[in-house]
Amino acid sequence: MSSQSDIPWFDDFVGIAYRYYDLRMNVVPLVTDRKESASLWHDTIHWWVDSSIKLRFVELYDEYWFIMGSDSQKPDTNLSFFKILPKSENYQRFKKGHGGEAYLRLGVYSDKSLDDVKKDVECDCGHEAQDHDEGDDDVCLFNKCNCKKFSSFQVNLLKRKKTITDIKFLEEKDVKDDTLSWNCLNVNKYSKPN
Ligand SMILES: [Zn+2]
Ligand SMILES: [Zn+2]
Repeated sequence: MSSQSDIPWFDDFVGIAYRYYDLRMNVVPLVTDRKESASLWHDTIHWWVDSSIKLRFVELYDEYWFIMGSDSQKPDTNLSFFKILPKSENYQRFKKGHGGEAYLRLGVYSDKSLDDVKKDVECDCGHEAQDHDEGDDDVCLFNKCNCKKFSSFQVNLLKRKKTITDIKFLEEKDVKDDTLSWNCLNVNKYSKPN
């Protein structure tokens, strides 16, 4: 097996969704294209050895680094994942509620416009589609809301899954003791010019 530092870092995905599904929390890297999700699964994640999958969250101020890697039965096409993300409510919920285990699934993410959705779908502003003007511009009709355009998204969770049991939340000072996150920050943070 190749060493961790030989595996390329991959951050070309939209973000991470955290969802309850099948009794466990699901950690869902989001891609925008179904084909892309299929090849990511076939080439990389399918070959991961479940018991060796590591999930790390390194918290820095109001952001966190999502870091995920694994030993692979097909090291040639292995990738390690990372993404710098804001500490969202869903992230905080996952942090509190994961209980040491999670399913890893891929998700296909798509933007939805006002015409695509049912009346009760929530806009990013927190108000439902039916509270947005259906005229030329779909502004939110709530007085205090400054949302100018309905926007929402939909996530389709793909069925195939892996089980993750090695999950750690770290601060930057702890990273030197953790091979995967140390390697990630070394390559993607410390060795990049500011
Ligand atoms: Zn809105
Ligand atoms: Zn609104």
